[in-house]
Amino acid sequence: MAPSSCCVHCGFQSLYVQRNSLFKKKDIFVQKKTNVKKTMNVVCNLVEKKRPKVLIAGAGLAGLSCAKYLTDRGVEAVVVESRNVLGGKVAAWKDKEGDWYETGLHIFFGAYPNMLQLLRELNIYDRLQWKEHAMIFNNKASDTPSPGQNMSSYSKFVFPSIPAPLNGILAILFSDMLTWKEKLLFARGLIPAIFGGQDYIEDCDKYSWTEWLIRQNIPTRVNDEIFIAMSKALNFINPDEISAMVILTALNRFLRETYGSKMAFLDGNPPERLCRPIVDFIEANGGKVWMKHPLRRIETREDGTVESFVVGNAVGKAEQWRADAYVSALPVDILKMLLPLSWKSIEFFHQLSFLKGVPVINIHLWFDRKLTDVDHLLFSRSNLLSVYADMSNTCREYFDENKSMLELVFAPAAAYISKSDEDIVSVTMKELERLFPQHIGPNAQLPAKLIKYKVVKTPRSVYKTSPGLNSYRPSQVTPISNFFLAGDFTSQQYLASMEGAVLSGKLAAEAVVRYLESRPMDTMESTEVASNQLVIR
Ligand SMILES: Cc1cc2nc3c(=O)[nH]c(=O)nc-3n(C[C@H](O)[C@H](O)[C@H](O)COP(=O)(O)OP(=O)(O)OC[C@H]3O[C@@H](n4cnc5c(N)ncnc54)[C@H](O)[C@@H]3O)c2cc1C
Repeated sequence: MAPSSCCVHCGFQSLYVQRNSLFKKKDIFVQKKTNVKKTMNVVCNLVEKKRPKVLIAGAGLAGLSCAKYLTDRGVEAVVVESRNVLGGKVAAWKDKEGDWYETGLHIFFGAYPNMLQLLRELNIYDRLQWKEHAMIFNNKASDTPSPGQNMSSYSKFVFPSIPAPLNGILAILFSDMLTWKEKLLFARGLIPAIFGGQDYIEDCDKYSWTEWLIRQNIPTRVNDEIFIAMSKALNFINPDEISAMVILTALNRFLRETYGSKMAFLDGNPPERLCRPIVDFIEANGGKVWMKHPLRRIETREDGTVESFVVGNAVGKAEQWRADAYVSALPVDILKMLLPLSWKSIEFFHQLSFLKGVPVINIHLWFDRKLTDVDHLLFSRSNLLSVYADMSNTCREYFDENKSMLELVFAPAAAYISKSDEDIVSVTMKELERLFPQHIGPNAQLPAKLIKYKVVKTPRSVYKTSPGLNSYRPSQVTPISNFFLAGDFTSQQYLASMEGAVLSGKLAAEAVVRYLESRPMDTMESTEVASNQLVIR
């Protein structure tokens, strides 16, 4: 696949060829007049010799997106990843029976412009399986199932196919979860969420979601019925802990964009179906992704800029890798540990200490029969669980006509993260007695047997979005001229999500290109060292 709008000779984007620092525009213009083909060959030769190289640590979505967009701009993108699996928080593994289990149940939204564009650019957009435009909540009515009433029941917010915000307002008005008075108070309270700009939303970072609801006179029951589930889905914590900014951001996108809240599942495991095509693109265009190559240390020069990344190689030895610019696409908790001592006193890096990953657990339960035919995400409204889905319905690769595989997000997980898998599955099964009374528990008429389970714990996942932390999120540009940041925790409007990660990578790539363009050509690291820049210590 060639980058779009690029030089047909060498695959470099025209924008990059026009770099003042690399080529004198005047010379190219004069030569072009005389012999276009010859000039293009000269340009390609020049470019190939001087191709700048950028080293990126982390092959999650942020690092891969950064490498993809650098590749588009004619840069040699080299990614080092500590694990032997792509994707970071979207990583997944196959068990010995060939079943996949994942770090997290992942949903794509219509309001993810950068992710959707990336999928289109890679020609894999059709791997998204879009679902009915609705949000489905388990009813609390089945809390104490009786033998006569032991079917799971659901409440739906259905978004009709009319423009936003009308479709969202109608979805609220026609749902059966709230009384008419609650619906009206809720809709009135939401007006600033729909029409308030980004400044209003960011200003609300000082409140927790519960505090914001109280200020808007929205009844507490709305919080209990809807927003405990939403808060846990967005950041794995409860509404009294989450910044109002997070939920307002989601609501703003969902209510302003007609298809903003429409959900899709990937058609299979994320490392192969989502990450591999990005790697193939990078490698087909001269870049490289090195698995099992952890960044161990960042070496600095006297002026504080990055001298090299010290990377562990395949046999565990440390190597010094040099490039023209460096990007960390690591989770914030790991980045903090790898910061050079001399950077720690810089306010920009010091502020990272306020950002901490929140614990979450992803559970997979395989049953001997079908528990539901719902082909969608479900908000469990359980104290222990957040969202879940029967992946045997929602995802083509996991499809099974006769058996269910429930994937459930267990949150808040702080009290359970150090418990055994058996304990976690046991309390989850107890919760499922309420969600599937007809199949699980003492009243089950068609009992289902748990065949096997898999528990994936992430003690430090996305950063915990407590009130007041938004201003501590760093920009992609850092005070260190040749060092950049990508990652869902960095500053961008999509919070800690796949969309946020992809956007952060794109923004970091743009910042790196601006930096490279501003440098005179003869200072390029890649002009000093030939193609393979490994210097073994
Ligand atoms: C349970 C769960 C459910 C989620 N659900 C959703 C959802 O439904 N929708 C949504 O949009 N988002 C969801 N997310 C959030 C989303 O997964 C993340 O926001 C996003 O994937 C983060 O990408 P990232 O590249 O910023 O970070 P990461 O994915 O953490 O990537 C960082 C990479 O750096 C690597 N690394 C670490 N140390 C080193 C080192 N020393 N050297 C080299 N590499 C290193 C890691 O192995 C990893 O590959 C969910 C997350 C979880 C945990």
